[in-house]
Amino acid sequence: MPLMKAIVVKAPGSDFELVQKEIPEPREHEALIKVQACGVCHGDALVKYGGYPGLTYPRTPGHEIVGKIAKLGSPSHYWKIGQRVGVGWRGGHCMNCKSCLKGDFWACESPLATGISSDGGYAEYVIARTEVLTVIPEELSSVEAAPLLCAGTTTLGAMKSSQAKGGDLIAIHGLGGLGHLGIQFGVKLGMKVAVISRGKEKEDLAFKLGAHLYIDSDNQNPAEELMKMGGARAIFCTAPNSKAISELVEGLARGGQLIIITFVNDPLKISPIQLMRAVRSVSGWVGGNAAETLKFSVLTHVVPMVEEYPLEQAALAFNRMMSAKVHFRAVLKVTEE
Ligand SMILES: [Zn+2]
Ligand SMILES: [Zn+2]
Repeated sequence: MPLMKAIVVKAPGSDFELVQKEIPEPREHEALIKVQACGVCHGDALVKYGGYPGLTYPRTPGHEIVGKIAKLGSPSHYWKIGQRVGVGWRGGHCMNCKSCLKGDFWACESPLATGISSDGGYAEYVIARTEVLTVIPEELSSVEAAPLLCAGTTTLGAMKSSQAKGGDLIAIHGLGGLGHLGIQFGVKLGMKVAVISRGKEKEDLAFKLGAHLYIDSDNQNPAEELMKMGGARAIFCTAPNSKAISELVEGLARGGQLIIITFVNDPLKISPIQLMRAVRSVSGWVGGNAAETLKFSVLTHVVPMVEEYPLEQAALAFNRMMSAKVHFRAVLKVTEE
């Protein structure tokens, strides 16, 4: 049996282990993908540390995958061997729930998650269901495209779903994988973009990415700074810090939206009167449309800023991401493009 290299987590909290294992065989409606690049996302911490309902071990994380189709489990009119494709967080739809039966697959009640329900892209090969594959435009390298499949799709999806329009002030809370794409998307959508991050270290990079304003939350009160400009129409929270997120409500304009796009368990502390007084709202967002995100990124020249690591250095890449040191997305370059 041919073997491949893969990173596995054997139990919640255990180390990333590089192993040799059999290359899996695709079943009906599945493709075997030879992985070229896989982004390292905060969502992968659910595999490393546990906490996702139904997650079983050992498990290979990774859900920002770009690679080439190596094998198809059943004949397809559309998908071909050698085609370059991407897979994000959504790993499949159940096809049986009320939403799926209506054709509203993205509202599936029992969806599969890549690198959670099945092994992900920290490996030389991965199995993916064909209904969630996306064609990667040739203008993007595999390393560039990978972060767009989760970080990019989530951020652009949240922005397009919000009430903020061109000319509005928005704020991006947290400058990491999602945040650095959020700045670029916001600017390309014609918005005035304020970035809220801790310390001065990332200020120059924020401006380089197109931000109009930088708020250092170690030395400034972000809500007060936003209110000096009339308040934000929407604040997109990418930093997993419930206390900091809660304090941002006071920086929203009348009717403004606080939209949370980061995994965080601690409860928010927001009083109803803070919301009522200025008709503000708090909501969460997950997912989006990968094909639209790739198209928008090519059209507007939005490219992720990445640090490349070989598969063997997945632990280093993950630790830099978790400690917010990475500028701004770590991507495992697994095989040559
Ligand atoms: Zn992700
Ligand atoms: Zn379903």
